[in-house]
Amino acid sequence: MSFLPLFCPNPDCAHHQRRTPLLPGEKPWFHRKSHFNTTRNGWVPRFRCKSCGRYFSAQTFSVDYRLRIPTRCQEVLASLYTCQGQRQLARVLGIDASSVARRISRLGAQALGAHARFLQAATPDPEAVFDGFESFARSQYLPLNVNILVGKHSEALFGFNLVFLKRKGRMTANQRIQRDALEADIVRPKGHGSDRAAELFGEYYRLCQARGVEPITFYTDEHRDYPLALKKAGLTGKVAHHTTSSRKARTRSNPLFAVNYVDRQFRKDKSEYVRETTRWAQRPDRMMERVAVYVAWHNLNKPVRVRDKKLKRVTHAQLAGLSKSWVEQEWQRLGRERVFPKREPLREFHRRVWNREDVLLRKDGSDVFGPAEPLWRMRA
Ligand SMILES: [Zn+2]
Repeated sequence: MSFLPLFCPNPDCAHHQRRTPLLPGEKPWFHRKSHFNTTRNGWVPRFRCKSCGRYFSAQTFSVDYRLRIPTRCQEVLASLYTCQGQRQLARVLGIDASSVARRISRLGAQALGAHARFLQAATPDPEAVFDGFESFARSQYLPLNVNILVGKHSEALFGFNLVFLKRKGRMTANQRIQRDALEADIVRPKGHGSDRAAELFGEYYRLCQARGVEPITFYTDEHRDYPLALKKAGLTGKVAHHTTSSRKARTRSNPLFAVNYVDRQFRKDKSEYVRETTRWAQRPDRMMERVAVYVAWHNLNKPVRVRDKKLKRVTHAQLAGLSKSWVEQEWQRLGRERVFPKREPLREFHRRVWNREDVLLRKDGSDVFGPAEPLWRMRA
């Protein structure tokens, strides 16, 4: 019955990294501080850390912390992979659209923790497929790529990050003038595309090294950034690189099948990628939080193939070497236990999404996508 805190929620406290509430014979590191009554959760026990003096309660460790209305995580979560728009969901749940946005942001943070733990436990495929998924945020003048790195056999998502692109392709004279006016104002980081690809190649290589998986082959299309990215990651000659024309038929026998498949799932399941004329993302940093949720769902909960007798009971994470019980437990945990970033093995690409650093700036330092909502308002 009685709740025992596992660790102190203060990230700067010596007790923040604890993995057991109390060691045998150890004196408690916290004081019990009565209870408080809530209409939602009944009596909630309170504590005070002896080391840093921080007060906290059982609620501090729940995904619902500081929410008056229960999160209804399962519904919000489901909306992110069943092609439901945020306002539609707000109407269904009878809550404000901004409350939905806040819950999604929170679940994004939860999903980053889950993905980081997945990477720590999974066995990567010796063959991996890399691709950029093209979309845009706010306007068609601001296209972007969501890079994904997928195991060729497990089809599990091992890495994702964002690349801002310049609008190219066919435009009218007027559109071209508008594009050039906008571009003149934007600060574009140099070598951004190949840097971000290099980040994912490098992370995957280190993951394989840590598990003793070799030799490694990366499959990509013929984009000229990829050989450069492998060079930037210091992998030229260390890994095999196999390219396939993006014009080749996208069938099961196509070496890029794993990413083509995930691309198709994105288009099908995520409302902002469906039809570019009716719904789209407003902000790239928030979009990446939703990508994180999708990635966690894809790996931990989605059946590999719905129509296959055997594969409909298996998840992509299981094909990446994890047990069914581990995967189920992690999926439950995502919707329940609050993630604390300092306790999770977050990688650099996770950290950027967590801190909402995927933004594009103008020369005067302002955000191209308009003022951002402060992080503390969304997650705390
Ligand atoms: Zn403490």
